[in-house]
This record gives sequence, C-alpha cells and structure tokens, in this order.
Amino acid sequence: MHRATKIVATIGPASSTPDVLQKMIQAGLDVVRLNFSHGTADDHRQRAETVRECARRAGREVAIMADLQGPKIRVGKFESGKTTLEPGQSFILDAECELGNDERVGLDYKDLPRDLKPGDVLLLNDGLIVLDVARVIGSEIHTTVRVGGDLSNNKGINRQGGGLTAPALTAKDMEDIRTAMSLGVDFVAVSFPKNATDMEMARQLANIAGAPYGIKPKMIAKIERAEAIPALQEILDSSDGIMVARGDLAVEVGNAAVPALQKRMIRMARESNKFVITATQMMESMIHAPVPTRAEVSDVANAVLDGTDAVMLSAESAAGKYPVQTIEAMAAICLEAEKSEQSELDKDFLDRTFTRIDQSIAMGALFTAYHLGAKAIVALTESGSTALWMSRHWTHVPIFALTPRQGSERAMSLYRNVTPLHLDTSSDRDTALQQAIEVVVSKGYAAHGDMVVLTVGEPMGQPGGTNTLKIVRVGDVL
Ligand code: PGA
Ligand code: MN
Repeated sequence: MHRATKIVATIGPASSTPDVLQKMIQAGLDVVRLNFSHGTADDHRQRAETVRECARRAGREVAIMADLQGPKIRVGKFESGKTTLEPGQSFILDAECELGNDERVGLDYKDLPRDLKPGDVLLLNDGLIVLDVARVIGSEIHTTVRVGGDLSNNKGINRQGGGLTAPALTAKDMEDIRTAMSLGVDFVAVSFPKNATDMEMARQLANIAGAPYGIKPKMIAKIERAEAIPALQEILDSSDGIMVARGDLAVEVGNAAVPALQKRMIRMARESNKFVITATQMMESMIHAPVPTRAEVSDVANAVLDGTDAVMLSAESAAGKYPVQTIEAMAAICLEAEKSEQSELDKDFLDRTFTRIDQSIAMGALFTAYHLGAKAIVALTESGSTALWMSRHWTHVPIFALTPRQGSERAMSLYRNVTPLHLDTSSDRDTALQQAIEVVVSKGYAAHGDMVVLTVGEPMGQPGGTNTLKIVRVGDVL
C-alpha cells in the first residue's frame, strides 16, 4: 500500500535500541526527530548512529531532524523538587532566586521581569497552571495563583498572547547546531522563531557549521508563538518548511484557536511551495495505551485531510510504552484518510502562476498524469524541487523521485506523496529513464503495460535542469 502522508517520530529512552528502531522503521517511520530539549550530545550521537545503522539494514533512507530547544522560558529547580500552588495564594517568580520553595522560584531567563507588567497572564506547565501578574519589583514578578496545581522543576512558562522578547537562538542552540551538523542531520527545526530574521540567522549558522561536512540542512520553522502568526508568510519564505507546533502555540493563543490556524498554516505552506508537519499530542493516550482514542484518530485523519505532509509523534514514541504500535496505528489512519480525500486539481491550479521551465514541466507532468489516470509519476531529480512542486497538489497518482544525491533523497522523505529512491543515473537520457522505470518496477510500484509519466533534465546532472516530459507504457522501447 502506498501511503502519501509521512510519519515523523521523536526518539528517546523508549526507542533508542536497534531492535525497537528497526521495528519502527518497518512500521513506517520516515523521519526521526532528535529533541535537543532533552539528552546530551552523546545521547544524540548514539541515537543518530543507531538510526543510520537500522536504515542501512532496512535498505532505505530515514532522515534525521534536529529539533533545537530554543528560548523556552522555564522556572528553576525547587528544594524539594516541586511545590503545590493553591488558587488565590501569592507566588513569586524571582530571577535571582537559586533554589525554589513554596513562596518563590527562580527563572532561567533573567530578563523576564522586564517583559511583564501588572495584568499579564502567565501559563506554566503547558497551561495547566495560570498566574496573574500583580506587580514587578526589580528581579521579582509577584503573582496571584488563578489556577493551581503541582509545579515541579524546570516547567515551561508562556505569556498569554505571546510577546516575550527572548532571542530565538540561545547559546545552547548554537552549540547544538554544531553537534547536529557533525551528526549529519538532514533537517533543523528552529523553536519559537518570530520572523524571517530568526530563520535566516539559524540557516546561516547551520550552513557554516555544516560546511565541513558538506551539508546544507533544510530549515523548519516551528510556529509556536503568537507573533509568528502575522509573520507567517515571511517565515515561510525564509524556511524550507514549517511545523504546526500545537503544544506551545495552544498555550499562547488558546486551544480553541489552534484547529483553524492549523488549516491556514497548511494551506499557506502548500501555496508557498513549502512542506508542513503537524505536531504534538496526536496520539497522546498511546503513551500508556496500545490503542488510540477516537478523538486522536480523528485528529490525525483531519490533519491528513487538511493536506499536511507529515504527522509527528513526541512523547508517544520517545518515552511511551508502545512506540511501534503507535506508528502502525498512525500509518493505518493516514492510509484510510487518504483514500477518502477528493482531489480537484483543475480548481487547485486556477490561481497558480509560474515562470520557471522546470516548474512548468513539473506542473505539466502532474496535470497530465492526473487526467490520463497514469499509474505513477517518475521524476529524475537532482535537488528534489520537481518532486516538491508536484507534491504541493494532491492527486492519487504516486510520485517516485529518483536521485543520485543522498541529501535530496533524505530531504524528500518529508514530502507528501513522494517516494524517494536512489538511482545512479547514466548520462544518456533514455538509458537513465529506462533505469528509473526498472527501479520502480523492481520495487513493485508499477507493472508491464502501466502508463507512467516521466520527467527529466537534459543535459543530466544539473539541479534546476528539468526540461522534458515523456509519457510511456512500461515495457515500451524508449
Ligand atoms: P516542543 O515543540 O515539543 O519542542 O515543545 C512542539 C510544540 O510546542 O508543539
Ligand atoms: Mn514547543
């Protein structure tokens, strides 16, 4: 069965052994996420090596994403590990406090008091605890507890409505970018960017750190602060893809605003020729249970129907009891949702314009394959752009993208409806097309007599050079 939607899974203590990872890859894992908010550089190195080893054994590429922690603002540690906050009590967040108690706790972002004024609302521990800011005195933020609960070491802090000024890249992030590049990661996800400048800076750092390894990673903007919403178009323009980071986003803008924002972000990403990942709490109950809830099934299916490229797992696969079953369940939900999805390519094309030759060939191939009912699109690509453009529109015709470049092959593992395959292309066009068809047939994706639509660039081997569209039946002499 050809699944179009890709699966990203965070790996952690529950999923770092070769045995579990191997099963996750078999179950349909496409991209591994290393979460730099947890674990040491050594943990990440170990995990990246295990992923590469398991992928080699599975005989296919599995891409790796480094997700930077970013300026997540957190409370410090407590003498006893935690405190319990009661509604109505006062509580102080103190930038100068070393070790917290029942009255106050420290802050990792020392400038937070300067960003706040009386009347502001602070959300702690993913919004489970709500504090009203009463006044700010020097390093101390005096608050009244509105919604109480247990507050333990290092829990996150958000301001309702956003607007905290912490810079997007911390010193730790810069160090982590260097680590990630030395691991040869394919994607870097930037946490809490608020504009294009944040993304440009991150890309520059990643390209510099990646240069010795010959890597230019794809940059992903995590949309998770209120300010990023009005800046979405410029963030998209400066990124390769975005993540609908529903966890922090929901805390800043309110849970109820997130589903509509998700639809808008997915639509805008596709219209901007960028990829998009839908993340956080998709299969949350499977941290403890072997089956998802019906609400979770609907959530994953709706993300697929919204047109997401990928769905993502966090704690479910990193620390849950059922990492393999979660991927199996997610894959099954995606497949079923895709079956029901209508495509209206003609309407979809109405407002789109393009001037590039390679893009025209890509759109022509997609349009042709859709109307002729071709069995497959086979794209010979260097950079992967042809596959990206074609995959921004949904048709039920699967796209096979063959490339000699490992970096392109891994990058394409996030593109919806694209199956990346390796092919050391011949310099002769017809021989290369013949080889491409043979690879697709040998993997069982097409058979003798099937109509396939091919795209290729001549001369071969140049990125951006796609200029040829060919329609053939498998078995025809080219
Ligand atoms: P996180 O990002 O898991 O790194 O917090 C995702 C989100 O906020 O949804
Ligand atoms: Mn987040």
